[in-house]
Amino acid sequence: SLSMNQSRIQELAELDKKYFLHPTTAPKTHAEEGPKIMFSEGKGIFVNDMNGDSYIDGVSMLWNVNLGHGQLELAETAKEQMSKLAYSSSFIGYSNEPAVRLAEKLVSLAPGDLNSVFYTSGGSEANDTAFKLARFYWELKGKPQKRKFIALEDAYHGVTIAAQTATSIPNFHTFSNSGISDVFHAKPHLTNCELGDKSDPNYEGCIRDIIEKEGADTIAGIIMEPIQGSGGVHIPPDGYLQAVRELCDELGILFIADEVITGFGRTGLMFGVENWDVVPDLLCFAKGVTSGYAQLGGVLIRQHIRDTIVQYEGVLSHGFTYSGHATACAVALKNIEIIERDNIVVNAKMMEQELKKGFEYLKSKHPMVTKTRAIGLLSAIELYENSDTNKPFDISVKATAQVGEECFKRKLMIRPIRVGEGKNIIAIAPPLVINKQEIEQ
Ligand code: PLP
Repeated sequence: SLSMNQSRIQELAELDKKYFLHPTTAPKTHAEEGPKIMFSEGKGIFVNDMNGDSYIDGVSMLWNVNLGHGQLELAETAKEQMSKLAYSSSFIGYSNEPAVRLAEKLVSLAPGDLNSVFYTSGGSEANDTAFKLARFYWELKGKPQKRKFIALEDAYHGVTIAAQTATSIPNFHTFSNSGISDVFHAKPHLTNCELGDKSDPNYEGCIRDIIEKEGADTIAGIIMEPIQGSGGVHIPPDGYLQAVRELCDELGILFIADEVITGFGRTGLMFGVENWDVVPDLLCFAKGVTSGYAQLGGVLIRQHIRDTIVQYEGVLSHGFTYSGHATACAVALKNIEIIERDNIVVNAKMMEQELKKGFEYLKSKHPMVTKTRAIGLLSAIELYENSDTNKPFDISVKATAQVGEECFKRKLMIRPIRVGEGKNIIAIAPPLVINKQEIEQ
């Protein structure tokens, strides 16, 4: 009955406040106020809370539920695999069929000669793994001094200590003051500078400038999201990723693409780098590989790195208990099968156009909606106090947070992002199964 449900919700809220320390949540406020919402079920782009209220999931939760909620084929697959063999170790040469089949599938989808995979349980672990593989590669190449990494300003790469160091969104970077020392942050998306134009006024602090100052013989790799997600959905200009690829080739540095958000159709192509025909040396993935139905991530590795690694006669002493998790891999395989069968990547590309139409409508209707952008179903709206004069909000005005709250009250979940001086960005990244009518809604 209704009142039984109400008392259950209340009980859960009390238990939550007391026992559940939430990620990326203000602990003091949470301990006082309890959970903001208690999700209970979902279907497609919609999720319900325990009160039975239905919300539009405008950001695929954490940019990961790409096939939408309540996908029963994935549930069936998990059940089937768990009933046979939920999990087995991949250490010391042990293996299982879903992990092997998925590896073959991933390699067939990946661009260029990204020809093998190392599995992790998520995106941060994938990035940490990429850093360790890059250093290992250079050790094997007889260049152990190549240990430093370059990441971009506004980057989000996760929260394990190395990934967090590469992350440059200030709150994550400073949390508990943890980090490794060998990561440098470069100004993003300066094509000319990366191609070597020293007369460009932005040259100082670009990737090439940092490499020159630190010495190419000390740099192991450059990590970047093909399109920055949590930092504000920043799409690089055409030519930028190619310029970075060229720079890496010229100076002998590994290019690590963090495709944790952009992988598996999000941008209207299977992988984000394909928008610019670039093949990274290491490609990190997670999230969309299972649409969030199981915890899985990994690193795809180019042939030349793989060739170097397999010469090593010792043990590759790195791996997670859940590397090659049988159930997670089975779910990923089914997820990819559905993406291909239902033309989900094409749908993401087509719905980009619908989203853009909607953005034009909003621009015409609302003086705050000033800049908009979308690549596939990765999109953002930038709010200004006045779009005619490009006048940004006073830094004290929490415009995006307010918009986020108001949308939430109206049963729409979007992602307010506030980065730097007066930049108010709202990210929208719905499940890739969304249709025209739902976008209009
Ligand atoms: N890299 C990018 C680009 C991400 O967006 C995220 C998560 O949002 C991560 C890495 C970290 O992944 P995880 O939270 O699975 O560790």
